[in-house]
Amino acid sequence: MILVSVLIVFAFWGLKNYFGAPLDLAAPDVETKEEEQEYLPPERNIYDIKAIFDGQNKFQVEMNFTYVNNTLDTQQELYFHLYPNMFSSSKRIPFFKADFYRAFPQGFSLGGLAIKEVKQDGKDVAWSMTQEDQILHVPLGNPVNPKEISNIYMQFELIVPKARFRFGYQTFGNDKMTMSLGNWYPILAIYKDGKWSLDNHQAVGDCTYSDIADYTVSFTVPSDDFTVAASGVLKESYLSSEGYVYVYSIDKIRDFAAAISNNYETASEEIDGIKITSYFPPEDKRGGFMALNVAKYALGIFNEAFGKYPYPELKIAEANYYPGGMEFPTFIMMDSAKYKEDNLSNTSLERSAAHEVAHQWWYNLVGNDQINEPWLDEGITEFSTAYYFEKRYGEPGRESYFSRQVDTTVNFIKNNPRHMLDPLYLFKSHSEYFAEVYVSGVLFYEDMRSRIGEENLLDFFRSYLETFMYKNVSLEEFKKFLKDKNYEALDESFYNKWFNP
Ligand SMILES: [Zn+2]
Repeated sequence: MILVSVLIVFAFWGLKNYFGAPLDLAAPDVETKEEEQEYLPPERNIYDIKAIFDGQNKFQVEMNFTYVNNTLDTQQELYFHLYPNMFSSSKRIPFFKADFYRAFPQGFSLGGLAIKEVKQDGKDVAWSMTQEDQILHVPLGNPVNPKEISNIYMQFELIVPKARFRFGYQTFGNDKMTMSLGNWYPILAIYKDGKWSLDNHQAVGDCTYSDIADYTVSFTVPSDDFTVAASGVLKESYLSSEGYVYVYSIDKIRDFAAAISNNYETASEEIDGIKITSYFPPEDKRGGFMALNVAKYALGIFNEAFGKYPYPELKIAEANYYPGGMEFPTFIMMDSAKYKEDNLSNTSLERSAAHEVAHQWWYNLVGNDQINEPWLDEGITEFSTAYYFEKRYGEPGRESYFSRQVDTTVNFIKNNPRHMLDPLYLFKSHSEYFAEVYVSGVLFYEDMRSRIGEENLLDFFRSYLETFMYKNVSLEEFKKFLKDKNYEALDESFYNKWFNP
């Protein structure tokens, strides 16, 4: 079964893609050794996506998804999130009412992902959509046993709404545009304890809950005026009959995002051997360089504190995302408002950029269910943000951070009925969510530091990263991991205070 599937995958995909480079057949090694290498199955899911952009707001996309069944059960079906379909009807707008004009400055705009074809190992599949078209159900003609692999081919059209969101675009002047491509392709849902996790996107917070996978994504754009900023590393670019092609690739990330604009300049720097690139429009050069500078310092501080960022590049792109900044693996999307002069002097850009860099550890490397347990990544990420200000600027940096973000919020938290461990759908505004989930995270880790000391806290972070790197962690696992450390200073009162509201 494995062999058959592997051969079919090769037929779709070619040996070149599978090994990332052409095989050198002219200089064969010992023959048996080479055969073994040829049939080595992939360890994790692979997304191979080809997207052709029309220069306006549509993409024609083909996706070859190699499913590796790393669960303990035979899978008869797969489920994929179709997040773009949160924009597919004017009857259900995916934001709070108060946010409507921030998300749609020119009024509501439709978007979505229309599936045209799904095949498993070359055979048509009777796919269907559920949950307001936000979930794709793929029944498998050939059930996939544990450790086996199968190829799922999809063809779809993507329509991007005119929205200031992770998935959306904005136009400027006569012919300038910037497109945010986050949560834009069918992504496999998490299967855990015999159940698929199929929560829809919420009005607040992030929606991603996914497994680590390998990605190769090619974007074809109609002219070389367009710059493609994306997760991963640019492997090749060339001119084809359909346009300019940019191929990005990276292994072991949790999601893949991009921003496309015909109005980008770039600037790069390096720290600890990692290349950082900032993308910004010419009029926001100061903000673009500031984002680059913050990303560089944050990466350096977190490399030392938590353990080294394991990828060769990090990109930070000015785009349109009304809530502020958005983390994606090896790629950060920042709202253009952050790059305006006022926000450069009031630390708004700096806080956001440092926060999204910290998410590279807490969300990408150590994943979690961001809808039901958002505190797991946001709490530790916001503490890391405070830690960045403290390490970079010393006591004044810490004081400035606390006076802006924490001191003004402590009373609100005391009097508000929500708890830091609540799921996204219980929060009624961004400010309530920020106070309860982010600021409580700062207070939680501050409390831990004051009890066990900074060295122990950093040791805890490093061992937490090592234990859960490239996995998803649950709140129960987090609590058990912490308790198993047996820190004497963390008594029952500590656990009751934070975990038993
Ligand atoms: Zn965050």
